[in-house]
Amino acid sequence: MQVSLQGKNILITGGVRGIGRAMTEAAAKAGGHVIATYLSNEATAKDVIGGLQSQGLNVHACKLDVRDSKQVDEAVAALESEYGPIEVLINNAGIVKDGLLMAMEDDDWNDVLNTNLGGAFHVTRAVARQMIRARRGQIINISSVAASRPGRGQVNYAASKGGIEAATKALAVELSSRNIRVNCIAPGVITTEMSQDVREAAGDKILESILLKRFGNPEDIANMAVFLASDLASYITGEVIHIDGGLKL
Ligand code: NAD
Repeated sequence: MQVSLQGKNILITGGVRGIGRAMTEAAAKAGGHVIATYLSNEATAKDVIGGLQSQGLNVHACKLDVRDSKQVDEAVAALESEYGPIEVLINNAGIVKDGLLMAMEDDDWNDVLNTNLGGAFHVTRAVARQMIRARRGQIINISSVAASRPGRGQVNYAASKGGIEAATKALAVELSSRNIRVNCIAPGVITTEMSQDVREAAGDKILESILLKRFGNPEDIANMAVFLASDLASYITGEVIHIDGGLKL
């Protein structure tokens, strides 16, 4: 069985590091043309994308702050006029700002909600315009195990990820008549910069709760994203797929 994304333009937010970087590489290796967005670090983005291009992969980078809906609309329009319609969107960009409720500032709440949930809304609305016209598309949102099994100090993050799971289902309902599938992946603890502090502070304790007794690799998530984006998943929509080594249980 071969997973192919041949001929598809794939937009991955936050696609140059962590889980996003792994998805960029996997999607390009499956034959897709990937546009990976980065927030600010142009030098790193050029490095990563240049490295992938030198392996013969069809990837490009685009600077984008998903919180800024005007910037998102303009960037998506520019990308579509340069490369053609985007067929696959992966809403991966996300941040954490953990803290107990009584110490949580308005900015901690707003930044996390505006990035993780608002950002996905902005990019989805911009990209769906063309998908609806084309009557074809796949949208993959990245949630977290925190939506169903939050830790202490995660009220903002868990709310943003619970929101993206609910939005996934609502969008699947709304867009199915246009042949657009919408799914969500909920990763457990994955070895990226984002989870570094948590792994360092409580790694052994967390490992005890993971049935498979290891943290996930970015590739564990990327493999599912590529599958969901491909035609092999053509009868799957509105799903939240947990990839957490059994942590949720
Ligand atoms: P990461 O910090 O390595 O990557 C996050 C990416 O999001 C970065 O590329 C960053 O530049 C981008 N980003 C942040 N704010 C942005 C903004 N305003 N506009 C555009 N891009 C922005 O983290 P990661 O672990 O690779 O996380 C990727 C996704 O997976 C996130 O949505 C995260 O919540 C989710 N997730 C991660 C884990 C984990 O253990 N690492 C677990 C569950 C879910």
